[in-house]
Amino acid sequence: INILAIESSCDETSAAVISDGKILNNIIATQSVHEKYGGVVPELASRAHQQHLIPVIHEAIESSGISKNDLSAVAFTRGPGLMGALLVGVSFAKSFAYSLGIPLIEVNHMQAHILAHFIEDPKPKFPFICLTVSGGHTQLVLVKDHLVMEVIGETMDDAVGEAFDKTAKLLGLPYPGGPLIDKYAKEGNPKAFPFPVSDMPGLSYSFSGIKTAVLYFLRDQLKSNPNFIEENLTDLCASIQFTLIKMLMQKLKKAAAAHKINHIAIAGGVSANSGLRAELQLLAKKHGWSVYIPKFEYCTDNAAMIAMVGHYKYLKGEFCAMDVVPEARMKI
Ligand code: ATP
Ligand code: MG
Ligand code: FE
Repeated sequence: INILAIESSCDETSAAVISDGKILNNIIATQSVHEKYGGVVPELASRAHQQHLIPVIHEAIESSGISKNDLSAVAFTRGPGLMGALLVGVSFAKSFAYSLGIPLIEVNHMQAHILAHFIEDPKPKFPFICLTVSGGHTQLVLVKDHLVMEVIGETMDDAVGEAFDKTAKLLGLPYPGGPLIDKYAKEGNPKAFPFPVSDMPGLSYSFSGIKTAVLYFLRDQLKSNPNFIEENLTDLCASIQFTLIKMLMQKLKKAAAAHKINHIAIAGGVSANSGLRAELQLLAKKHGWSVYIPKFEYCTDNAAMIAMVGHYKYLKGEFCAMDVVPEARMKI
């Protein structure tokens, strides 16, 4: 079984080929046009996908050593994501599958972030809890099988990746600010500036408060010292990161205890964060958890994870019709 997978939900254009469950490659074109706008501009993303898609797919097929005519199916991200960006990938996937006379497989991008864990060993044991943390989502997911999963907690407002990026913007850092906060935090004191930790009912998260807290804090400090940010950048980054990780871990611990599960995984772009990874290893020791952290390149958006879902769906014969349309707010 050879499947071509396509990802175009946000600002990464990516294609991968999977053969009998083994990922052969993972070609990713990241869009840099958004940097100067401090966030992804949807229309620019769609246009960049149009430019990148064919070269990226061409490279994926060429380097896989598998001929187009030996492909068994085309898997694509149906949602969630930006409508215009998704449309580019979905339209290409449909016409490509149609022209080759092979089936189409729709993939939920959030499910794919979780199945990134099945690309390489060690693979998590079912059931496990996955904390999915990305630019658009923050979810606690109870994963019972490759394609059987249930969201048991999520954010009521902003995603944690958004909180990283928006507070970074307040510090004058370019988009995406998450990796930069991570970098500067390594040299700072996480307890320098105590920002408020929200506590929502049950397993719900809220990340909109910290943005406002940082905004007002900076406004007050800048009044007496216009160089406050430059002089305290590492401490500010460390404190913001510390607060966000604390909130994430609070509910993760609660979820693990409530469901009596000690296999814990993280997924999504923010799982690249070194502070989060370190904290998770600490908690693993303390609570006797087995912790699973995907390789860096499989944390952020990529088509290899889409291919993984495609593989499991192919085995179950879960194909979709040719009149499928993207779904911007698709749920797990
Ligand atoms: P979604 O998957 O919800 O549709 P997305 O695809 O935009 O959203 P990803 O590409 O999975 O999200 O992740 C991007 C996010 O990860 C950005 O918010 C970025 O700042 C954040 N991120 C990446 N690396 C790090 C890091 N080292 N520390 C903190 N955040 C990071
Ligand atoms: Mg992205
Ligand atoms: Fe993503």
